[in-house]
Amino acid sequence: MKPLASLSDDVAAKIEGLLFDLDDTFLDHGALHEATYRALFRLREAGISAVGLTGRPSNWAEVAARLFPLAGCVAENGALGWYLTPAANGRTRLQQWDPVPPELRRDRVAKLNEIVREIARAFPALALADDGHGRVSDRAWDVGEFSTVSPEMIAEVTNFLEDRGAKVRTSSVHLHATFDGHDKATGAAAFLSARLGVDPGAVPLRWAFVGDSGNDTPCFNVFRVGVGVANLHQARLAILPRYLTKLPRGAGFVELVDRLVAARTSAC
Ligand SMILES: [Mg+2]
Repeated sequence: MKPLASLSDDVAAKIEGLLFDLDDTFLDHGALHEATYRALFRLREAGISAVGLTGRPSNWAEVAARLFPLAGCVAENGALGWYLTPAANGRTRLQQWDPVPPELRRDRVAKLNEIVREIARAFPALALADDGHGRVSDRAWDVGEFSTVSPEMIAEVTNFLEDRGAKVRTSSVHLHATFDGHDKATGAAAFLSARLGVDPGAVPLRWAFVGDSGNDTPCFNVFRVGVGVANLHQARLAILPRYLTKLPRGAGFVELVDRLVAARTSAC
């Protein structure tokens, strides 16, 4: 990883949009600070689109897309997302993007509910995440938000879920199981293609990504401007981002926004 300061003006000025993780990247231990929130408006003023890209549930993305100055928000590690479209009287209307047909979605929900019952029997100490009521495509267990779960137990649960055909993704706070195909990188590319008409193959070159943990590694793997905030768990990641901020969490997010906005402004 190279310091973010080494990102060249030439590369930074070509960035059209920023995809960003929420927990421990945009949020500081779950809280949104004023400077971090303000950075979204600075991106918009500079003509740089912003899209949230989180493992959090669909209903978090629904609120973020409704209230924040974003081009949309993708939830559940790339599975689905929300965005606004113009409506009558100068209003905007929320729209959901979900590439999985309703019948298949119902089948997958039934399989997920069965897996939740099996996990409860096999790992009684493991607690479901407290945001489960808003989840559509996955189920999540708390491995770091309010509970402490050892890496050994996370590996054991991961094997258990993978043996049942589920895909597993792990963030700094949750372990997720899903039967959907997208990860954060492919889901973001599909969303930007459907929502903004961006060529999916060009997303890793024309957009930047910032994150901190295991479920962000598909993006760290493909984004030319893939950025980790300083608190990222280096030892736990199989793939590291190309750049690293000097500051952790929300301050690191603002550091990246400063860099992108300065490069875009000086290029104009
Ligand atoms: Mg995170």
